[in-house]
Amino acid sequence: MKHIEAIGFDLFNTLITVDPQALKQALTRLLGSLADDGIEVDPKAYIKSHKDAVFKYIKESRKDGRETHNRFWISAALKAQGYNVSPEDPRIASAVELYFSAFYDFSRRIPGTRRMLEAVNGKYRVGLLSNFTHPPAAVKILETVGLSSYFETILISGDLGYRKPHPLVFERLIEAMGGDPDKILYVGDDPEPDIAGALQAGIQPVWTTYVRDHGLPLAPGIQYSDGDSPPADVPRISTWDDFIALLDEP
Ligand SMILES: [Mg+2]
Repeated sequence: MKHIEAIGFDLFNTLITVDPQALKQALTRLLGSLADDGIEVDPKAYIKSHKDAVFKYIKESRKDGRETHNRFWISAALKAQGYNVSPEDPRIASAVELYFSAFYDFSRRIPGTRRMLEAVNGKYRVGLLSNFTHPPAAVKILETVGLSSYFETILISGDLGYRKPHPLVFERLIEAMGGDPDKILYVGDDPEPDIAGALQAGIQPVWTTYVRDHGLPLAPGIQYSDGDSPPADVPRISTWDDFIALLDEP
């Protein structure tokens, strides 16, 4: 792929995995944070309301591609528990931070990721484009797993206002990566947001199936759509060695 000058990467289930235990820990820490701030709820009832709110807000976000934020879900869940707390309330901001702190402890690099990023740095412009509601947490996760220094551009849907596969977020990636979609590769695991999104933006996608091939659980909050499979001519890789070999193809 001699014409390629820039590579964009997805984050979750592409460069890193997150142990599903993170979700339980995250909710425990969220409840602890609320309790510290004087908001006492029944954990079971709260978690039910929280999950209902997540479902509702994510469903809405899927409709128009606009990103949502955890503060709205927490505010809605608290309302269902009889607490009127605005999404902008600092107690909710603290709960969001504590919630995501669990993700720092349970995120791991997929084997070979650092070696691959070392290999492509210098040869290509390297960027990250991730769907994530709370951008500071995504940045912190990258730091925790030791990957932040490899990206000249980090784009997070929570900052952009829209999620992949919305064309706007890929436009931002193209701008940041030199302006010519023909010279950009985008590597991701999720057929709809990553592969269909990149194709729609005129970018060559690469489908990474490491997590699928190893039967690993997806990071919390991520679900593949049923029966989703990229077009057969989209290159598929299972290891970073496969990816380096693909880049070296004429
Ligand atoms: Mg992903």
